[in-house]
Amino acid sequence: MPRACPLRSVDVMTTQHTAPLASSPGEPGYTDAIAAFNLLPSITPARTVVARSALDAQAAIRYATERGRPVSVITTGHSLGSSQPLDGALLVRTAFEATVRVDPLRRTAQIPAGATWADVVAAATPHGLVALHGSSGTVGAIGYLLRGGLSFYGREFGIAANSITSITIALADSSIVTASATSDAELFWALRGGGGGFGIVLEIEIELRPMWKVLTGITIWDSTHAADIIPRWLDWAKTAPPEISTSLRVLNLPPLPGIPPMLQGRQVIAIDGSVSIVGPNLLGQSVSIADELLAPLRASAEPILDTWDAVEPDALLLTHMDPPEPLPYIGDHFLVSGVDEADVTALLALIGPGSDSMLSAVEFRQLGGAIAEPSAAGGAFDRTGAEHAFLVVAAIGGPATVEAQHATMAAARAALSHRDTGYTAPTFVESTDQPSRTFDDYTAARVESIRSRVDPTGLFSLMVSRANR
Ligand SMILES: Cc1cc2nc3c(=O)[nH]c(=O)nc-3n(C[C@H](O)[C@H](O)[C@H](O)COP(=O)(O)OP(=O)(O)OC[C@H]3O[C@@H](n4cnc5c(N)ncnc54)[C@H](O)[C@@H]3O)c2cc1C
Repeated sequence: MPRACPLRSVDVMTTQHTAPLASSPGEPGYTDAIAAFNLLPSITPARTVVARSALDAQAAIRYATERGRPVSVITTGHSLGSSQPLDGALLVRTAFEATVRVDPLRRTAQIPAGATWADVVAAATPHGLVALHGSSGTVGAIGYLLRGGLSFYGREFGIAANSITSITIALADSSIVTASATSDAELFWALRGGGGGFGIVLEIEIELRPMWKVLTGITIWDSTHAADIIPRWLDWAKTAPPEISTSLRVLNLPPLPGIPPMLQGRQVIAIDGSVSIVGPNLLGQSVSIADELLAPLRASAEPILDTWDAVEPDALLLTHMDPPEPLPYIGDHFLVSGVDEADVTALLALIGPGSDSMLSAVEFRQLGGAIAEPSAAGGAFDRTGAEHAFLVVAAIGGPATVEAQHATMAAARAALSHRDTGYTAPTFVESTDQPSRTFDDYTAARVESIRSRVDPTGLFSLMVSRANR
């Protein structure tokens, strides 16, 4: 059994502890506990608990064990589309009272269960430090880190899970261990991208990076320019320096308040991202890096919106214009390499100008750089050699039916299937139906044997990703 380690931080424990109350459907607290960012999937766990401390998490594990219920965990429900059915389960919602703590000397952040990236960024920015967060501040930091995490800083610094220095977790026997490179290194390895199902993570410590500013923004054109812009972006991406990271999307923007009036109800093509600026002396170099991509595109087609600027790093959470409020959606994803102009033509015929596509976003997220490099002390998922993450998101509830959205999504998948690497990035998997594969079979078997050691009865089996299964 894993060795019990003292918690590095006592903040995730509470001294004045009252065991949390489990709620059944219809009882107070149940609806709040299952509330998720993705409003579409319907989950019906038998009981729910809100864990506000490590002691709550331990009590929840004991409660479930005594009643023979499997345990699942939710922080924000951004990934609910990839969740297994939770009938009969105890769902633990993590909302710890502890706050994110930054040690500016060690350049680390301790992130309690329940914290979002907005919480981490707010704590790190005053110290001139950044975390390898994703595009949205509403995403849970722990759920993202456990699945790998692809950041706009990733091409320079690698997959976000590689920045983890320790993970404190409550296991199936309700013991608490802190896994790190020097304490249960095997569990530490498996926890980082291994697919979940090891226990309830109470706290993660990550390394932070010094950052002066970021050059960030979004440039948007009418989608009639997509056939010209996408191949040029793909070509540029082949040799782009690691300091810059971008996303290219074809967006169908709804006519809703909150979206700039000139974009409402329009299909557009958007390039957004960031160039990191570690110190003031690198501002000019960063502008040149961004200009190499954007200047020729701006010259050939007038953008509708163009917001790039050197700003405080916390502004990066707004660049991608992710929806701030929960909504119902479906998604698809796989990792691609070798996409060429003919593929773009075929894809645009399905989802571009003149098509009847109502997909909210069809995206190529630029990978490469440090994302492709193995980390000396990395976890089960520490890199991907794919050139791009291909992502599709379709909001449900607009003019298109769910069936129509699924059909267009399937057609887009088919158009790029010959560029599918056969692998997926765990954070972007939005469904239990689509194929998902994180690593090779040897790695999968090694992860499974560690999972069996710490959870021999399968208490957390509903949390295990379907990838590699
Ligand atoms: C708008 C939006 C933008 C996004 N941008 C990016 C991006 O830029 N880069 C990227 O890589 N991904 C991105 N994602 C994907 C996101 O990182 C994943 O959906 C992530 O898994 C969400 O984690 P969560 O905790 O918020 O969600 P949840 O659905 O609550 O949890 C996700 C998974 O983590 C597990 N989990 C959560 N907390 C714990 C815990 N304390 N202990 C054990 N297991 C736990 C859950 O059981 C579940 O399996 C984005 C998603 C959305 C919706």
